[in-house]
Amino acid sequence: MGRLDGRVALVTGAARGIGAATARRLASEGAHVALADLDEQGCQKVAAEIAAAGSEALPLACDVSDASAVQQTVDAAASHFGKLDILVNNAGIIRDNLIHKMSDDDWDRVLNVHLRGAFLCARAAQKYMVPAKYGRIVSLSSTSALGNRGQANYSAAKAGLQGLTRTLAIELGRFGITVNAVAPGFIDTDMTRATAERMGITPEAFQAGASQHIALQRIGQPSEVASVIAFLASDDASYVSGQVIYVAGGPAGILM
Ligand code: NAP
Repeated sequence: MGRLDGRVALVTGAARGIGAATARRLASEGAHVALADLDEQGCQKVAAEIAAAGSEALPLACDVSDASAVQQTVDAAASHFGKLDILVNNAGIIRDNLIHKMSDDDWDRVLNVHLRGAFLCARAAQKYMVPAKYGRIVSLSSTSALGNRGQANYSAAKAGLQGLTRTLAIELGRFGITVNAVAPGFIDTDMTRATAERMGITPEAFQAGASQHIALQRIGQPSEVASVIAFLASDDASYVSGQVIYVAGGPAGILM
């Protein structure tokens, strides 16, 4: 018996990194998982791994910032599996720059993927969750919500997600839907490796430097975020809503 037996989940940004780890984790606990991402081939690869491990997975191409694409994706997941219990808003990008160099496009794209994307997905998903009087929505915030040099766009989006989380928890609680966020610190994914490359240092040097500012003295792995998301998606967290759980190896994450 898995904690998520019989549940249906949709994970965005599931082609790699934290999203792929989350899809694998939810499936390993018994959920049927729809994987949505810009990168359809990446989704297909992760879905094939999940299927090989004995669970059902549905890969879907989707740009979470596109309202009609989101509607189609959520409808496809719910129609394929017969319902939708769990939504994980994970898709994300970074376009870092100091404010004087940040373009309108840097700002708009980051806000559109993280914040508009989570809004669109939650709005589409709640249409299935409200009549069922059950749902779990988990969104990826970040320690950057507390402020991070060069990330005015990303920080604003991740702080906005915390407000969205608390508000949806209030609005949807009466329908048996919990809404929470996880806020990772430094996790070893393509996103943080690309940041190292942009800074002109190796990912290993970047990770070693960051580790010195983390209480546990190491960076995190995608599976260590996925396990917290799985908890929030499960009935072990049935009375937890409107919360932000920092998954950062310490109380404050990285202090740059
Ligand atoms: P990642 O490795 O870069 O993966 C992000 C995934 O999201 C990619 O597969 C990407 O597809 C997809 N994506 C981007 N834009 C999309 C869109 N418009 N629609 C659908 N999918 C889209 O990132 P990650 O590190 O796993 O991060 C996952 C989430 O955790 C993000 O929300 C991120 O902000 C958050 N987070 C990460 C860290 C960290 O240290 N890694 C820390 C705090 C929070 P493409 O490859 O096609 O672009």
